[in-house]
Amino acid sequence: MGERITIKSESGYLAMCRAGELTGRTLNYVGSLVKPGVTTKELDEAAEAFIRKNGGVPSFLNYSGFPASICTSVNEQVVHGIPSKKVRLHEGDIISVDCGAIVDGFQGDAARTFLVGEVGEAVKELVKVTEECFWKGFEQAQPGNHIVDISRAIQQHAEAHGYGVVRELVGHGIGAEMHEAPEVPNFVNIRMGRGARLVPGMAIAVEPMITLGKRYVSFLDDGWTCVTSDGMPAAHYENTIFITKDGPQVLTNPK
Ligand code: MG
Ligand code: MG
Repeated sequence: MGERITIKSESGYLAMCRAGELTGRTLNYVGSLVKPGVTTKELDEAAEAFIRKNGGVPSFLNYSGFPASICTSVNEQVVHGIPSKKVRLHEGDIISVDCGAIVDGFQGDAARTFLVGEVGEAVKELVKVTEECFWKGFEQAQPGNHIVDISRAIQQHAEAHGYGVVRELVGHGIGAEMHEAPEVPNFVNIRMGRGARLVPGMAIAVEPMITLGKRYVSFLDDGWTCVTSDGMPAAHYENTIFITKDGPQVLTNPK
């Protein structure tokens, strides 16, 4: 992760809008393909083709050696699941898809958790509240506020529902690099204090990772896939947002 918080110029902002727009559109497209029987490899191939056809570069591909263009994390997988021919979606699953695209040298980063066919009420509620957690954080992303205001809002909303908040992975600044300073935790961390002050020109990826059971996670032997330690489902929802003088703006078109 870069050490510096970068403040974007007008041209940087406009490139981030284009990167964010393509990232969000790719996720909407992948979401339209999610159904029982599809493999996560098929989703990855579709996402890569869509990004390239629309003038972007998939930022995840080969990032620290990651072997695919999206992360596909099914059920108890929290984030960073690797697409595979062997992983086929089944009715009642949930799948978190994390996607990044580079356009004109700037990055977009976003994630959605999709339902596969009919999903049980408890898991559906988890997915809904995880998205709400993002919006609670978003409301706090005002110039003059601090990172901790976002963190607190997310944590309070998740824990009010009895869910776990993953501590091992956090949101981040974003710009020409996918991961820049500052860190954007989804929980209040006494070591970070208030965190960075939000100022116009900053861009951050806010990404609650919320568990139905306990908050503890482990990593699989593939070196990537993060799973809940208790095997309970987890959801992930992320957008790249830009701090303007008038408040935060989502760049990765959420609808
Ligand atoms: Mg992401
Ligand atoms: Mg991210």
